[in-house]
Order: sequence, then C-alpha cells, then structure tokens
Amino acid sequence: MKSKQAEVHFNDKGTPIASHFDDVYFSNDSGVDETLHVFVAGNDLLTRWENWQAPYFVIAETGFGTGLNFLVAMKVFSEFRQNNPSHPLKHLYFLSTEKYPLPLPDMQKALDAFPTLQAQANALKTAYPLGLEGCHRRHFEAFSTTLDLWIGDVHERLPQWSSPISGLVDAWFLDGFAPSKNPEMWTDDLFRQMARLSKQGATFGTFTAAGIVKRGLANVGFTIQKRNGFGRKRDMLTGTYSEEKAQGRDFEGPYYRYNRRKLSPGDEVIVVGSGLAAATATLALAKQGLKVTVCFDDENLASGASGNPQGGFYPQLHAQESIASRLQAHSFLFSRAYYNQVIASQEGQRIAHNFCGVVQLNFNEKVAERQRKLIENDVWPSALVHAATPEFISERAKIPLPFDGLFIPLGGWISPPDLVTALLTLAQNYGQVTLKPHHRYGDHEVMQSSQGMKTVRVNFDTGETLTAKHLILALGAGAVNLPAFASLPLRPVRGQVEAIPSQSPLKPLATVLCHKGYMTPAHLGRHALGSTYGKDDLNTDVNTQDTEQNLQTHKKAMLGAQLVEQLHHDGTARAATRLGSPDHQPVCGVLTHFTNLKPHYVDLSLGKPISQASPIENIPVSTLCCLGSRGLTTAPLAAELLASELTHSPLPLTKDLCHALHPARFMVRECIRGILED
Ligand code: SAM
Repeated sequence: MKSKQAEVHFNDKGTPIASHFDDVYFSNDSGVDETLHVFVAGNDLLTRWENWQAPYFVIAETGFGTGLNFLVAMKVFSEFRQNNPSHPLKHLYFLSTEKYPLPLPDMQKALDAFPTLQAQANALKTAYPLGLEGCHRRHFEAFSTTLDLWIGDVHERLPQWSSPISGLVDAWFLDGFAPSKNPEMWTDDLFRQMARLSKQGATFGTFTAAGIVKRGLANVGFTIQKRNGFGRKRDMLTGTYSEEKAQGRDFEGPYYRYNRRKLSPGDEVIVVGSGLAAATATLALAKQGLKVTVCFDDENLASGASGNPQGGFYPQLHAQESIASRLQAHSFLFSRAYYNQVIASQEGQRIAHNFCGVVQLNFNEKVAERQRKLIENDVWPSALVHAATPEFISERAKIPLPFDGLFIPLGGWISPPDLVTALLTLAQNYGQVTLKPHHRYGDHEVMQSSQGMKTVRVNFDTGETLTAKHLILALGAGAVNLPAFASLPLRPVRGQVEAIPSQSPLKPLATVLCHKGYMTPAHLGRHALGSTYGKDDLNTDVNTQDTEQNLQTHKKAMLGAQLVEQLHHDGTARAATRLGSPDHQPVCGVLTHFTNLKPHYVDLSLGKPISQASPIENIPVSTLCCLGSRGLTTAPLAAELLASELTHSPLPLTKDLCHALHPARFMVRECIRGILED
C-alpha cells in the first residue's frame, strides 16, 4: 500500500516541524548533538562496540523522520570500523519504522543543515525508497551499514519482524515525537513488541522522561535510569532489557527461518548453480564473510535460463495489494537499488542494460479493465507505475503506437549473463569465493560430526566430494529430476526468445514493450522478442513452431501498430527451460523432504496454530530456485533473505512475505486443505 507522506514546514531556526503532530523532528539547539547525547551515549554504543564479539550490531528506531539519527549512527559506526579494522564487529544494521515518510526535498532541506554529515546524507538521498509500506533494505557499504526502512505504523511493522530465539535487537532509539503530542505511538503494545524483539542486555535511549514510557518499559522487563536530558530538556531515560528470553519467540512452525545452525564469518558454504540464483546468493553470503564454493556443471556461467542476452526487468503488479504483487513490488524496488550499486561498481560497468522504462500495452478489453482497476485502486506509488496515454507511450518508445497502457519508469532490460559474471566477480572481491566449473552435482549426504554438529557432503559426477557447513542448491531446470527436490512441486517451463535483427520500423524502439509477450530495444544489433511458454518441456533446441508463435503473439497484440507486420527474421533464437512453482513465487529457504514432516504439523490440519518447535530448524541444506521468468526482479531480495536467515541477521521482508517464499508452504497448504477435505 502506498504510504501517506509527512507534511513538513520549517521554523525560523530552520528546524523541520511535522504539521500533523505540531512537533519538531529534532532539537532547535543542535540535532546532531542531541542524537549523540540521547541515542548514541544513551545506549552506551561506543563502549559496547569495543567489547562486542559478534560480527554485527542491530539498532532499531521508532520514527525515521529526516534520517538524522540514522546518519549519525552510521557515521559513528564507520569511524569505529576505520579505527578498529580487525575488530570482530564488522557491520551495523539500522532498522527503523516510519508512518509518514518525508518527501525527498524536505528531507534534503532538513539535512542540508548538517555539513559534517554530507557524505552520509548524499548516500541516503540516492537510496531513499518510494513511499510503499513494507521493508526497504538499502546497503551503505562505504559505511559498513545496512538500513531496513520499514514504512508504516510501528504497531503494524514490529509484529512483522522475525526474531531468532535469542532476540534480534541490541539497542533501541525510542524517538517519535513527545508522548503528549503522539500518544498513539507510546503504548503497551509497542513496549511488548520491544521486549519480544530485544536480546538479553539490549538497551534503549529516549529523549522523554514521561511516566507512561517509564512504567511501560519497566513492566516489560527493562531497567530504567534517568539521565540529564539534552538542551532544555531536564531528564531523559535509558535502560537495559533483563528478562530471561525464549518465551518471546513465536512458534512459526514450518515457517521458522532462523536455523539453529547459525553461520558465522569464515564458515564454509557450497552453492550449486551458475545462474542468477547462485550468483545473488553467493554475493549475499560473501558479504557476510562466509567462504563460498560455487559449483556448476558447464565450463561457463549462466548456461541455463539466465543465459538469454536480454531480460525484461519489471514487476508484475495487480490491482489489489496481494501477497504476490507486494512481493513483486518490493523485490523490484530492492533489485533496482541493488543493480544501481552493482553497475556503479567497477565490475558492474560491463553489464549491458538500459533502465529505459517498461510499457504495459493495453491491447484488449480484459487488459484494459485490469489496468483501469489498478490505477483506480491507487495502491501503488505513481513513481512505481502510472497510466500512460498513446502520446506518452509513443514518445517513450520513439515509435508511434496507438495504444494506451501502464508505464513502469524504473524498469527496463538487463543482460543476465553479464550480470551473473559481474555479481560473481564482485563476490570474489570479498576474498573467499571459489568457482568450480565442470562440477555436476550428483547428490548429498548430511553427516553428524563428532561434536554433534551436522555437515553436508556433496558428491559430484566426477567422483569428487566436497564438505561444508551448509549447502545451497540454486539450480534451474536441472533440479527437476533430483531426489533432493522430490517434495517440491516444480514446474519446468520451456521458453524460446527470438533475436530479431534490428530493422525499420523497429530500430528506434527505446523502451521495453510488454503485452502477452515482450520486445526490447536493440542490443548488439538485435531485439529480444519473446517468449513461448511450454509447460513441462525440457527440450532446449530452437524450433520454428515457437518462432512462428512468438511472431504471431506480437502481430496479434500489436494489431494496427505496423511494428511487427513485416519483420524480417533470420531465425536466430534461444530456448531454455525455466524452473517455476505452482504459485509462481520463488522458493527460498531450507530444503528437506517436507512430505515426511506432515505429522509434525498435524495441528494445522485440525485448524490450530503450531504449538511446538519445528523439526526443520536444524537442516544444513537450503535452496533458492523457481525464479521462473522473473529472476531479474526476485533473485536479489530472495538471496538477501536466505543469507540473512542463515547468519541470524535481520530479515528484509515482512513475515507474511517470508512465508510466501518458504519451501515448506506447499506442504503447509496440503495440511490445511486436509481440514476441508475431512
Ligand atoms: N528520528 C528522526 C530523525 O532522525 O529525524 C526524528 C523522529 S521525529 C521526532 C518522529 C518520527 O516518528 C516522525 O517522522 C513521525 O512521522 C514518526 N512517527 C510518529 N508516529 C509513528 C508511528 N505510529 N509509527 C511510525 N512512525 C511514527
């Protein structure tokens, strides 16, 4: 759902004020000093960081506002990293909620007042997300920091955060306007969520000393100290969470993501695959300091469905805010920010791409109705998708087209093989990634080591074996016949894409056109025109029936446009088999024989919630697969999710979206359906 924006004005000191709350975003005296006093010193961050032994630290904030607290924390943390390059604490996660995001120009104006933060503020401006409710993850690698900006009301967002059994948050920045101005925020529900998410020893700092806050936090298990407030404020509060944990964790049963076998920097992981799933997973793991060996059968990378020279990059949005379209929207927005960073890096410069926008043509009555509803329902920000007239479309396409439709300004096309190569090169730059071509996966065995820890041994067709702490099977169509995937309902789909020589009147095409098929601007003198959809067909030979079908699809959809009427095609095409799932979502998480586990989830078939720990919490094998034809959109965020769950760091998606990607979901649905059938 698109969020409401903040309405902001500035007082004579230049301090921003939220009109809705009639309160300042930060102190008139000095915003930066206030943050340092209340939140940085209030949580004793510098001393705690010095003594910290884990690889990352998690700060959670209520009320992101201008981002000032975030920028100060990021600056202080990156200075700590510079001063302590070999310290075990490597990374800061900053999670923040915001009900009313500031419009970018207001944020920019507010932050311009802080010259010492300009480098951080510029990075935030570039990465600032659209106002869409949910989690927006942004990496600020130059400052060793990741921001998860959870747009929406804190009361709706915090219950959507998943937590390891030992808690998630190390320090709270309790901001959010004075309790007298914003009583709806400072509730017992908020304090209970803070307790649910806090690690033993987590601290908080807040500018207020209001009794309601003091009592509320004490009631859920925080010790409370009064300290001198900042500027004109007499007092403020700090404290530490001291309840014994474990009761706070929800039994998410089959969907529980934090494997008991947490991976730490230096642990070895084997990734099998050579496409986008494998490359994005490898990069996400390498960033976490893991040692990754990537094994694939061919000589070359991206030999399967990720090998097409051009892939359209856009989300599949619905008129309703379904789980499927929220997943698409969030994955797409994350991917776009991720690709911007990869392309800006040295390796990324070799990725052929054009973020030229994507037009979804209105080419029949049914589509017209769907598109009309999407615009009418107004659930998506217009910067993500908006209605487009024939004049607008013709102007963007640089070709006259008699259709109206939808326009996705941030979309375009990318070369998947270039991307895979760049991602793996970037991953190798982290220093612990090895590529092993000619390693066709045979099978694997889970082994119990002498200390009771499980490891996994992978057997390759060559007879070679490799052992690691975790295995990720990131295979495409090759997964179909493997016993490891036997309990997943895989759907292989053959797709043939034509490579049409660039010619008049197609040549100037300057945006991606979608209807039932799609067509791209020229790359290396050819346009991609696709695609066929051959269910359960594993044959990857190019054939002329598919070519004819592709041409006909375009002629039919673009009747009257004369764009494809007389196309000369020399028959060059590529066919590949993509792997999909029945609900068309990727599959991401632990991999086991789920059907054998049904007895553990008998509660579900009785219509009850799960009440016991899940047996899938100790499995050393995961998968990232079933990206279908949407891998460019979905792979980066799914890979991020996988790496986060394996390292017990914060997850970048709401719980319901995490569930929608979980490999156990098919088994769970069967269990639930069991009730209806009885
Ligand atoms: N930390 C901010 C900064 O560095 O600029 C200043 C925070 S400002 C004092 C309070 C913020 O809390 C506002 O941006 C406001 O929109 C947000 N807020 C208020 N109520 C909220 C709620 N229920 N859920 C999420 N955010 C909320």
